[in-house]
Amino acid sequence: MSDFEILYQGFDAPIAALDCGRKCAPYNEGGIPFCCDTRHAVPTVYLEEWAYLSSKTDLWHLWQSDDPQETVHLQAETPDGQVLVACLGHTACQRNFRSLTCRAFPFYPYLDSRGTFLGLSYYLEYADRCWVANNLQVVTPTYVRQFVTTYERIFVHYPQEHENFAAHSAHTRQICFQKRRRIPLIHRNGRVYQISPRSERLRCVHPADLPRYGPYKIAAMLPFPDEV
Ligand code: SF4
Ligand code: SF4
Repeated sequence: MSDFEILYQGFDAPIAALDCGRKCAPYNEGGIPFCCDTRHAVPTVYLEEWAYLSSKTDLWHLWQSDDPQETVHLQAETPDGQVLVACLGHTACQRNFRSLTCRAFPFYPYLDSRGTFLGLSYYLEYADRCWVANNLQVVTPTYVRQFVTTYERIFVHYPQEHENFAAHSAHTRQICFQKRRRIPLIHRNGRVYQISPRSERLRCVHPADLPRYGPYKIAAMLPFPDEV
C-alpha cells in the first residue's frame, strides 16, 4: 500500500456534518464551491502524491493557467517537491482521490514561534469566501483529530514542511500584528482560541463570537442565520 493511500485513509472524515460546498457555492460565480474552483484556489500535491494519484485515477492533471504570467507566478510560489494540479471539476469529484490540500482546506497546521504544532488555523485570504472559516463550530472533532495525526505524519515524512508551515505561521503573526487582528485557532485539544500575534497568548472563545467576513458577515446579522 502506498504511503499516500495510508495517509488518505487516515484523513477521510468530512470537515462538517453538512455539505459545506452548498453553503459557499451560491456566492461564487457559476455556483462552484470556492475551494474547487481554480480561479480561487489551485491545489498543490507532493510529487509522491502525484505519482500515486496518476497511477490510480484520471481525475487530476497538471495545472496551467490560460495566462502564462499567472502560471509562472504560481509555480514560483509552489514549494520544492510539489506541483500545481487541477481536477475535472466539482461535479466529477472522486472523494477517495481528493488531494491532501483538498482535505485540509481551508486549514493549515499552525505552529507557534517555538515550532510547536498547536492545531488548525485557516488561510486568512479565504476568510471572505469560505463558509467553514466563518463557522468553526461546524468542524467535527474527528476531522480535527485526523488533521492533526495526518500532519504529524507529514512532518516526519517531509521535515521541510514543518519549516514551511512554521514560516507561514510566523508570516501570519506578522500580518495580523500589522492589521491588529487575532489569529483563529482550532486547538488540537478541540477548543477554539484566538491567538495574540504579538504575545502569542491564547484566549479561549466561542466560535460564534469570532469575526465574520464577506457575505457571511451580513448573513450572521439576519434573524435566522443558520438557514442562509
Ligand atoms: S471548505 Fe470552504 S470553500 Fe471549500 S466547500 Fe467548504 S465552505 Fe466552501
Ligand atoms: S478533487 Fe474534489 S474536493 Fe478536490 S478540488 Fe476537485 S472537486 Fe474539489
